[in-house]
Amino acid sequence: METALKDLVGLSRDALAAEMKAMGAEPFRARQVWHWIYNRGATDIAAMTTLSKSFRADLAQRYRVGRPAVARALTSVDGTRKWLLRFPDGQEVECVHIPEEDRGTLCVSSQVGCTLTCKFCHTGTQRLVRNLTPGEIVGQVMLARDRLGDWSGGLAPQGAPEAGGAPKEGGRLITNVVMMGMGEPLYNFEAVRDALLIVADNEGIGISKRRITLSTSGVVPNIARAGAEIGVMLAISLHAVRDELRNELVPLNRKYPIKELLDACRNYPGLTNAKRITFEYVMLKGVNDSLADAKALVKLLKGIPAKINLIPFNPWPGSRYECSEWEQIEKFSEYVFSAGYSSPVRTPRGRDILAACGQLKSATEKLSARERMALRAMAMTD
Ligand code: SAH
Ligand code: SF4
Repeated sequence: METALKDLVGLSRDALAAEMKAMGAEPFRARQVWHWIYNRGATDIAAMTTLSKSFRADLAQRYRVGRPAVARALTSVDGTRKWLLRFPDGQEVECVHIPEEDRGTLCVSSQVGCTLTCKFCHTGTQRLVRNLTPGEIVGQVMLARDRLGDWSGGLAPQGAPEAGGAPKEGGRLITNVVMMGMGEPLYNFEAVRDALLIVADNEGIGISKRRITLSTSGVVPNIARAGAEIGVMLAISLHAVRDELRNELVPLNRKYPIKELLDACRNYPGLTNAKRITFEYVMLKGVNDSLADAKALVKLLKGIPAKINLIPFNPWPGSRYECSEWEQIEKFSEYVFSAGYSSPVRTPRGRDILAACGQLKSATEKLSARERMALRAMAMTD
């Protein structure tokens, strides 16, 4: 029975080696299997042709190479793709691909829902159902590679790729991974770590740690741990420069206030001008978007190799905030830029498919089809 088979996706290299050893296979077999799974994207054990037929048959009796099921797939007018993924227990998360000229970014989820309750975030209104497993996290990257036709070695992806746009000059469609989907990655530390080490493995998915970003709302004790055990780029959801306001927007701030958070950032290993921490700052009209806030922000980050990422607030049904006026975002951005920070304003992508954090899932759960269409129509005229 297929459900009795153990999924190989998400096992660390060592765990995979142990499984293969238990089957009596030579150590290099584990390496070959790893290559088929993570470099070639094979999901059919029978297609792993560098392995002997009898070994493949043995493997197929015990294991499978799984993928999350796609409950819904949407493509935005700007090419952004969003998949609502469903796991065997019926739980769902989102995964978003954002194609740009010189890169393709995949936004990956770490939990079903979130225990934190940031006031501007839709995921924060959904109660946490559970942590994702390493296989479910790395599986998002693999599913996206399938759908985009983005595996190396020309192995036909499972199912027809939805891909338009071929990769540029042999480039890849997924060049960057950001842990910015649903959930707080540092509250699912081990699974996120194990998954990201597979994503970064250069004999596996092979996306360099410099191109993987973990975004946290500020789980201070796990920031140092992330530096030591994962070593990817860090993004901090700052959003406010005073504790009073941040307590309200990001309630975790009551536990880990701004000063402690920034101290943890200063100690993050390997920071240089070429390897900076990204500070995310969602622009909320009349709440955190004044020029005084911009000045305080620059002062606060002094001495930390930092990038500032201004995010236009993406409203959702029932949200209590509005996005700042465009001129205000520009003013804010100009100040920050003149102080020496590059401050790209994150272009809203995929608004017509509600591509921001947690929005598709909630929309499909809570809205009628008509409301959903109205909302999409609204977002499209933005
Ligand atoms: N839990 C992590 C990662 C997921 S959220 C974190 O909070 O960092 C990824 C980013 O999207 C965070 O910076 C978050 O603050 C931001 N975000 C959430 N809801 C948003 C919204 N409606 N509009 C704009 N940005 C939002
Ligand atoms: Fe959770 Fe991040 Fe949303 Fe806050 S912003 S509720 S930490 S997913």
